[in-house]
Amino acid sequence: MSDPGDTARGPWAALREELVQAGFRPSRRLGQNFLLDENLLRAIVRDAGVEPGARVLEVGPGLGFLTRHLLTAGARVTAVEIDPRLAERTETVFANTPGFDLVRGDVLASKHTFAPAVLARIAPPEPWHLVANLPYAVSGPVLAIAASLPHPPSTMTVLVQLELAQRIVASAGGDDWGPLSIRLQVAYAARIVRRVPPELFWPRPQVDSALVRLDVRADPLPPVERVRLSALVERLFQRRRQRLARVLGEIAGRGTAGREWAVQAGLTGDERAEDLPLETLRRLAGLGPGLPAP
Ligand code: SAM
Repeated sequence: MSDPGDTARGPWAALREELVQAGFRPSRRLGQNFLLDENLLRAIVRDAGVEPGARVLEVGPGLGFLTRHLLTAGARVTAVEIDPRLAERTETVFANTPGFDLVRGDVLASKHTFAPAVLARIAPPEPWHLVANLPYAVSGPVLAIAASLPHPPSTMTVLVQLELAQRIVASAGGDDWGPLSIRLQVAYAARIVRRVPPELFWPRPQVDSALVRLDVRADPLPPVERVRLSALVERLFQRRRQRLARVLGEIAGRGTAGREWAVQAGLTGDERAEDLPLETLRRLAGLGPGLPAP
């Protein structure tokens, strides 16, 4: 297969033809929507603020389009690719490029952790960054796992479906506010940097995408508090529109304890989980009688 940078007809047109001729069909299950726009690829690397020498984890290099720009910016890239056809190609294309490293296989060992080979590449003490056009099926888990690592990324700059981007940056009171927003915002400041229309991908997805940047907070919650908050939020948002006193009572294992718990946190107990901002949820988690012990 040729390199995408080789052709005079644009960086990808000949390559796409060649891939299709060779029988390659992008897999929907693996979220294979390749980003074709060179300007946007360049902008993503700029938005990510990648400095020469920075350690970057890229989940799903695919045909290596974003990888190439990251390497050009001087990043040391560990790319993790599950599709053996693409892993083979990426490895061949970047074989002699300094700073490139490929992990073949699933980035996830389970819904709650990265594969050991990935964890080894992002081990402390060196800071690292996540930069990726994330495959749809694992976008949420990848972000949640990265954020809760003992050595989390300093920044995450990721292209995701717009609907997920809106959940990541949501505020209390809307339908988008939920466990993922809370888990990420407790550790990161999150913003949507740009929206990306479907026509910039091959094949075209049916929805818009957005580039989100997350910057780690200087004052992250201690791990014990984070576990308690996460457990509380999981339970509360299963019944996000019910009165808080009732749901808290169930979590505490005694009906009347729910209202006491809410009152101690400065609430009445008549509120609903979906309306509670991060600070209030943190207060509730800090007081919770029915939460996992530290
Ligand atoms: N980075 C490329 C680009 O921007 O054109 C491709 C991005 S494409 C949205 C997602 C890539 O992630 C595909 O190459 C797909 O094979 C890969 N992928 C899907 N699930 C994965 C997983 N669980 N672990 C590692 N790679 C995965």
